[in-house]
Amino acid sequence: MDCFTGHPRQEGYCASLPADDDMRAGYGVADSRAQPRGSVLLVGAGPGDPELLTLRALRALKQADVIVYDHLVSSAVLDFAAPGTARVYVGKERDRHTLPQDQINELLVSLAHAGKRVVRLKGGDPFVFGRGGEEMQALAEHGIACEVVPGVTAACGIAASTAVPLTHRDHAHSCVFVTGHLRDGSMDLDWTALARPLQTIVVYMGLKGLRVLARQLIAHGLAPTTPAMVVEKGTTAEQRVITGTLATLPGLAVAEGLRSPTLTIVGEVVRCRETVRASLVESRSSLSAVTA
Ligand code: SAH
Repeated sequence: MDCFTGHPRQEGYCASLPADDDMRAGYGVADSRAQPRGSVLLVGAGPGDPELLTLRALRALKQADVIVYDHLVSSAVLDFAAPGTARVYVGKERDRHTLPQDQINELLVSLAHAGKRVVRLKGGDPFVFGRGGEEMQALAEHGIACEVVPGVTAACGIAASTAVPLTHRDHAHSCVFVTGHLRDGSMDLDWTALARPLQTIVVYMGLKGLRVLARQLIAHGLAPTTPAMVVEKGTTAEQRVITGTLATLPGLAVAEGLRSPTLTIVGEVVRCRETVRASLVESRSSLSAVTA
C-alpha cells in the first residue's frame, strides 16, 4: 500500500504535503481546471475499534483509489483498504495541523478532478466536530459529486461500550455535545444551559480545559458530587476509563497522566456504569475477531 506522507504513529514522523503543482504531480493529479470526473466520499471511521465501522464505510474503503485520512483514524481501519490503495495523511492533531483546512479542501478537489474515487476518512462521524461540513461545501462549490457516510461518533461509541447510557428515563432527558477547546484559557460555552438538571454533557477535546469545565459547571449550579468520567482512547485496546465527580475528576486526570484523545462525560448516567460493572462484558472481548 502506498503511503505518501508516512503515518506518525507508524513511522514516527509527520511529513508535510508538498504544495500546488508539486502536490498534484506527486499524486498523479491533473490540473484542477480539467472536467470533474471523480467523487469524494466523506466517511466516518468510528471511534477506534475497527468493528464499529459501518458496512457502507467498509465498502467505500475497499473501492477507493485514494484515502485521505486524519490523525484519529486507527490503522486497523485503514487496513481494510484494498492492497495498493494510495493513502494521504493530513494530520490535525491539537496545535499541530499537518495540512491547513483550505489545503485539505484543495487536495480533495484536485484528486476528484483527476478522476479519483476519493475516500475522505475522519474519526467518529464526519459531521460531529469534524469539519466535514466545510469540506462538503468546498466540494459542492467545485461541482464535485460527494456522498457522506455516517460514523459512530466518539460520544455514542464510548458511552455505549463503557455502559453509560447517554439518556435514561430516570437520570437524563437530554444530552449535549460540546467542544472543550480553550480559547485564551477559557471556554466559550453557555454554562447556564449546560448546568441544567437531568442532562448529560459530553465534552470533546476537553482534557486541557477539564479544570475550567468542572469549576464553571459547579459555579452554575451542578453539585460537586455530580458523577463524571474521562475516557482516553475509547473503544481501543489502550482504552483507560477514569471515573470520579466534578470535584475530583480534574485532579484524577492529572494524577493518571491522561493524554489526548479523551472524551469527558458528566451526569448522573455515569453512575450506571458502576451499578452494572460486575456483569459488564467489554464488547471488544465478547466477540471473536472478524475479518472483513
Ligand atoms: N468527528 C469525531 C470528533 C473529532 S474531534 C467524532 O465524531 O467522534 C476530536 C475529539 O473527539 C478528540 O479530541 C476527543 O475528544 C474525541 N475522540 C475521538 N475519538 C476518541 C477516542 N477514541 N477516545 C476518546 N476521545 C475521542
